[in-house]
Amino acid sequence: MPRATQPTGLSTLALHGGVEPPHPSATPGDVPIVTPIYQSVNYVQEFGTAEGLRYPRYGTGLNAELVQRRLALLEGAEAGLLLGSGMGATACALLALLRPGDHLLASAWIYGGTHRLLTQEFASVGIDVTLVDPTETRDWRKRLRRETRAIFLESPVNPTCRVLDMRPVRLLTQESGLALVVDSTFASPVNFRPLEHGADVVIHSTTKYLNGHHDALGGAVLGTASYVEEVRQKMMTWGQAPDPFACWLLERGLKTLDVRVRRHNENAMRVATWAEDRKEIRRVHFPGLASHPDHQVAAAQLDGFGGMLAIELTGGGKSADRMLRRLKIWQHAPSLGGVDSLVSEPRYTSHSHFSPDERAQIGIPDGFLRLSVGIEDADDLIADLEQAVR
Ligand SMILES: *Cc1c(COP(=O)(O)O)cnc(C)c1O
Repeated sequence: MPRATQPTGLSTLALHGGVEPPHPSATPGDVPIVTPIYQSVNYVQEFGTAEGLRYPRYGTGLNAELVQRRLALLEGAEAGLLLGSGMGATACALLALLRPGDHLLASAWIYGGTHRLLTQEFASVGIDVTLVDPTETRDWRKRLRRETRAIFLESPVNPTCRVLDMRPVRLLTQESGLALVVDSTFASPVNFRPLEHGADVVIHSTTKYLNGHHDALGGAVLGTASYVEEVRQKMMTWGQAPDPFACWLLERGLKTLDVRVRRHNENAMRVATWAEDRKEIRRVHFPGLASHPDHQVAAAQLDGFGGMLAIELTGGGKSADRMLRRLKIWQHAPSLGGVDSLVSEPRYTSHSHFSPDERAQIGIPDGFLRLSVGIEDADDLIADLEQAVR
């Protein structure tokens, strides 16, 4: 374990942030460079006090606590909490803010699981949710109620890679004293730090870029210490805590976050630029391209355009099937944000419950492929796409 320092650079924080100094009695030879895995669900308790009780379901496992401090530093938050999955994080983050009778205003452009949570589960506990088109700023304002407690949005958006302008929403939440909750999974703190743009709460599926290796599920919630404590209470009771090993894998993944995400950004830009010139590809969705509807917002708001993009094949669903069969490096899989390049089709994953017409209406026609660009050599990734699309 490295010595405690007070660095400010993102790469340094991702490697060393939150590490406590070694015990004063430790000799150098006792101090490992890598944090040990405390694969223990029980810790010895002090006599005569409830203070300092450790139990992983409480969010107080040693591996979890280290990563919680580190993520808080990376997002510029007072405190953080790790949970068992991104969905666990979203559920507990919102349950800590909303009571029966409360109203939540949310962007309609959200992850499928989040959509289900808001529209089905929350209704059953008496929390009312209104979904709005996030680009219609006046709509946000019109839908506000006396019972509205928070605004929830996700940016960049899955799978169209739209980037939401935070300024009008921030104005609204500041005027009306509402909490602004942002799912920043697609960006990671390397590309975007929502708290710097007026958000009160940041949510991540750490399963994606933060862990980055397709080998551990996890979620995180970042915010003020008092709010994070409320989320922790929900996590304990609803049983959404992560396992120590998943926390350890996440810590390992975080060490390379900055270099990984920069490479994802670079590779995605290369792939998007290539795709824009292909006649077999009708449209490319990537915020780094001048042709993208949110390019200006993205350039002003983000530090990097991200590793996610989407393409629409001129030949529709048939061409997509053919292309997927021919790809060699790109693997057909639904998740994203890891070092391996993946390709998925929303018509068979997040949007399988829509009809082809409904999908086309929301900008996801058949032949739409979502690419999670990995960190392989861009030349190889492009060559593979090229031989498969022809
Ligand atoms: C994957 C994802 C989630 C859910 O995360 P899990 O770790 O799979 O529970 C939530 N939001 C976004 C934007 C995601 O991509």
